[in-house]
Amino acid sequence: MTTWSEIEKIQPIASRMITNSIKKGRISHAYLIQGARGTGKEAIATLIAKSIFCERLIGVEPCQSCRMCKRIDSRNYPDIHWVEPEGQSIKIEQIKNLQREFTYSSFESNQKVYIITGADTLTLNAANRILKFLEEPTQRTTAILLTENSQSMIPTIRSRCQLIDLKPLHSKHLQEQLVASEMSEKDAALMSALTNNIDEAIEWSDDEWFAEGRKLMIQLMEILIAPSEDAYLFIHNHWLKHFKERAQLERGIDLLLLAFKDVLYAHLDKEESMVVFNINDEQLKQLVLSYSQEDLIKVLHNLLDAKRHLKQHVNSSLVMEQLALQIQR
Ligand SMILES: [Zn+2]
Repeated sequence: MTTWSEIEKIQPIASRMITNSIKKGRISHAYLIQGARGTGKEAIATLIAKSIFCERLIGVEPCQSCRMCKRIDSRNYPDIHWVEPEGQSIKIEQIKNLQREFTYSSFESNQKVYIITGADTLTLNAANRILKFLEEPTQRTTAILLTENSQSMIPTIRSRCQLIDLKPLHSKHLQEQLVASEMSEKDAALMSALTNNIDEAIEWSDDEWFAEGRKLMIQLMEILIAPSEDAYLFIHNHWLKHFKERAQLERGIDLLLLAFKDVLYAHLDKEESMVVFNINDEQLKQLVLSYSQEDLIKVLHNLLDAKRHLKQHVNSSLVMEQLALQIQR
């Protein structure tokens, strides 16, 4: 998504709000853009910056080819600053650096933009420092704060920004786009259930790591209902060796969630909602026999709990071992 007309297709309200202010030459001095992963936050921030700096705007659309547009794409333009969380949070030192950079005189233009991603991770000190910045806007500074959850930010920051609320993407819409980009129907259904980011979906579909992860998920589903097998050992010897990082482990649980939802859909005769199995799969039939609808509700809860624990930084092998014991038949 690199143009306003592309953004318009998935975020019509946000796109109209911002492009109207560009047309009128009244770009806000602070935007707070809120939306889930993959809804276009960074693409929109980049476009606002290009609309400010592009040397050959065509209406509201940046030309994408001038010196400015190219440098913005390579993030190598000194009047635009990106601030991202370092580890878990954005620290006051990072904000001090930003402000220091902004007071240097070596700018190429007198217009400045700073973009803060993961703005909800600003520490309180950092947030207060930003607040000062927002309270004394200079004519030519634009702040763009990006977050998945503006509710966890201090209200005084929220009230100083124009809030742009992005809508979740329709998975049907994403699925159609994936099929149009030559992905099989089945893969497109699975991918659009896992992410609402089209680039991520395409990347995963040709990713070996992902393909291997999917195989392990199918194997684990087999082991869970085989009386002679030990899911606990499988988790140890295979699962944790593949799904290592926390984000990877969450992805693994997402795959299991989709597989178990399919088993529930099979119980409910909702074949059209399935994304992992086909209704005639022998494995699915066995799973339906082994897990009642009641069992499945419990399993889905167990999976969601495990995901929550991972987010809370509970030891990941512990989380997965406990999960294996809970969901094995
Ligand atoms: Zn340009």
